[in-house]
Amino acid sequence: MELRLDGKRALITAGAAGIGLAIAESMTAAGARVHICDIDEARLAATAKALPGTGRTVADIADAASVDRLFDEALDSLGGLDILVNNAGIAGPTAPAEQIAPADWRHTLAVGLDGAFYCARRAIPLLKRAGGGAIVNIASTAGLMGVPNRSPYAAAKWGLIGLTRTLAMELGPFGIRVNAICPGSVDGPRMDRVIAADAALRQIDPSEVRAAYLAQVSMRTFVDVADIASMAVFICSDAGARISGQALAVDGHTETLAV
Ligand code: NAD
Repeated sequence: MELRLDGKRALITAGAAGIGLAIAESMTAAGARVHICDIDEARLAATAKALPGTGRTVADIADAASVDRLFDEALDSLGGLDILVNNAGIAGPTAPAEQIAPADWRHTLAVGLDGAFYCARRAIPLLKRAGGGAIVNIASTAGLMGVPNRSPYAAAKWGLIGLTRTLAMELGPFGIRVNAICPGSVDGPRMDRVIAADAALRQIDPSEVRAAYLAQVSMRTFVDVADIASMAVFICSDAGARISGQALAVDGHTETLAV
């Protein structure tokens, strides 16, 4: 079965790197017209070769005014909207809760949760006008279980899944499907930073943390950005036409996040 998104107009947040870039590439290959944003202007410009013809806006998803500007520009380039992918989210601090500064808590929630709400509230009227569509929220296995020493991140992702289920109920009658994808640990620079921070906290070697993370997963594997992009294309395509309100883990089956 070939999964196609021909003629679909997609906005993907934090699309200049990692999972967001992989989703932008896969959706473009499936026939969608794509607009991406990122807070990092240089990284965004560097996507020009991989994503020719894609609209780009420098935007901080944690800032409602910046999101408003993003939607104005995306609407100019796409002329409407069928798919919103709320991908932006930061790892936040690694520390016991009592050592986390309120500003770090707030910033992690602002990017990972507030930003998804700011984008959804602007996208909903456009999706209704299109006669239906899909919202995909990139959550995490951290939104499905507790994660010691990552309280802001886990709270942001649990909140995102709550937003997903609630919007699915509000928007189902309009033919708008809302789902979360929950990636496991993705091989790449971000996971390297998370592992380094955890190793520093525990005063052990990063290789031991990596081995412990792999042991938490039934399939003993990290995932690839392409695994997440495939799921995003699937649920936005006709193949996913009856899937809504779900938190879909793509993770090799995480048994626990407690080291
Ligand atoms: P990443 O750290 O590689 O960052 C991707 C992009 O986000 C970067 O280009 C960065 O500039 C941009 N960004 C950061 N803050 C932003 C903001 N305020 N506004 C706009 N753009 C911003 O991220 P990733 O690993 O690709 O993760 C993408 C999503 O997947 C996140 O929501 C993350 O929580 C989730 N996730 C990642 C992993 C993982 O192991 N990497 C696992 C589970 C879930």
